[in-house]
Parts: sequence; structure tokens; C-alpha cells
Amino acid sequence: MLQNTCSVCGEKFEDHYFDKEQTKCILHCEKNDLWGNENKYYPLFLELFAEFIQNDTFKKLKINDEISDANFFIKDGYILFIYVVFPNYNDFLLMLEFAGNKKILFEKCTFFTNRFSKYEKFERMVFRDCFFYKRNSRKESYVVTDNVYFNNSTINFLTYSGQNQPMNLNIRDSNFTIICVQGSSLALKNTRISEDLMIADLRDEKENFNQVVIDKNCFIKHISLLNRLLS
Ligand SMILES: [Zn+2]
Repeated sequence: MLQNTCSVCGEKFEDHYFDKEQTKCILHCEKNDLWGNENKYYPLFLELFAEFIQNDTFKKLKINDEISDANFFIKDGYILFIYVVFPNYNDFLLMLEFAGNKKILFEKCTFFTNRFSKYEKFERMVFRDCFFYKRNSRKESYVVTDNVYFNNSTINFLTYSGQNQPMNLNIRDSNFTIICVQGSSLALKNTRISEDLMIADLRDEKENFNQVVIDKNCFIKHISLLNRLLS
């Protein structure tokens, strides 16, 4: 009997995919005790994640109603991740590559790694107000970080919006057609942007200016400064 309903996504789950205290499924539950407990979450997370991908469940979740312009994303064939707490590493992305998902929206998701590298299969990646942790061996814990890294990636269209959650986006040794950055800082090194670098909202909510640093060996065909991004 599937009697457990996730308070985030509204789907029903078997006991082993469910955290009864949090009333959240394994995809959406907080994982504050992840350090040393990776095996408690990771295999179950991947199983359920694969099932959701196979059944195209992510697109049908009720929480998708929260996405503004949802129709745009859904009609345009994006896979939608909202409030997903990804436990450790980013190899779930390999699963998306195999499944042929080329356009991805991450909204208010949590990642326990802050590095994305060697991704080439994605056409569009959109990040909106995501949270990042990194490993800290000295503290034997995952600690909050405001740095995100993309290395050795070839992505057609990357949008990074940190409007409520400003981050420092560090990109090196990569190729993009278009990068859009909103409400966050950007540092580029040895990276080619063959069409446009769009930068919006250079001030954060505290009226600090975000920085854009273009370091060695970069090619950027065009830079646009905007008030707001469209997505
Ligand atoms: Zn859920």
C-alpha cells in the first residue's frame, strides 16, 4: 500500500523511499546528516530518480505549478527539477544523458557538490536560486558554499539565476554558445562564448555589485547588459 504522501511533490511512496519524520520522499527530503550516511540516501535516490525519469514523472508533479512561465518550460521540452535535494556527486546527470534529456531546469534545488565538469550532452541548463554544499574533511561535514564551478563543459545555453540566492559562478576550459547570468558574480577563464554573454541584475538585494571577471584566453563574441533575464 502506498500510504506515504510527500509534502513537497504530492506523490505517494513506499516506506523505503520516504522519510516519515519530514513527510518527504527521498528526492525531496533534507539530507543534513549526509556526511557518513551517503549510502543511506544515494542508492534509493538513484532508484527513485530513475523511476521518475522513466515514467516522465518530474514533468507531472504538482509543484511545477510554482514555476512562473511553466508553460514555456514544459512546452519547450525541459525536464523540471524543483526542490530536489541531490545527495552527493552529480552523476545523476549521466542518467539524464542516457535518457536523452537535453534541457534541464533546476529550481531551488540543493546540491552536495559545487562542481560540474565534462558535460557535453546538454543543450540548455537553467539554474534558479539553487543551494550548494561542498565536502569539508576537516569538519567532517558538508558545508554551505557560495561558489559554483563549471569545468571542461560544452553546453549550448547556460542560464544561471541567483536572484534570491546569489552565487559566484566560476567557469573555465569550457565552450558555450550563450551564457546568461542574473544576480550573481561570474569569473571566466579559458572559455569561449560563441554568441552572447548576457548579464542582468548586477546588484544583489543588499545593493552590492556583483562582479564579472574575464581572465586569460577567453573569447566572447558579444556582451549584453540587461535589466532582467527572460527565463
Ligand atoms: Zn517528493
